[in-house]
Amino acid sequence: MSEQPAGEGGLTLSALQRQIRRMYGAKDEARGDAATFLWLTEEFGELATALRSGTDEELALEMADVLAWLATLANIRGIDLEAAVARKYGAACPGCQAVPCICDPAEKP
Ligand SMILES: [Zn+2]
Repeated sequence: MSEQPAGEGGLTLSALQRQIRRMYGAKDEARGDAATFLWLTEEFGELATALRSGTDEELALEMADVLAWLATLANIRGIDLEAAVARKYGAACPGCQAVPCICDPAEKP
């Protein structure tokens, strides 16, 4: 209970997932992935509103909500977000394998 999720070294994605699990784990499991995805999409809408007309603080907190709901979805499906991000983006652009990315701007990523 004494773990500090946002210490001197910053908050890792793994620590965020643990914190979300401690706070909401039982509710999240009961809600399931599909309903959680709906909440995540709702938060994207709120982020869009904050981008258009919110204060910097409102924008920051909406970004936090989007990340928290993504962490929730990862918890429900047993995904280690930190490991997934490291696998996909930890070394270089997954499209062109370069840093910085040299992909054609007309194409993803
Ligand atoms: Zn690239």
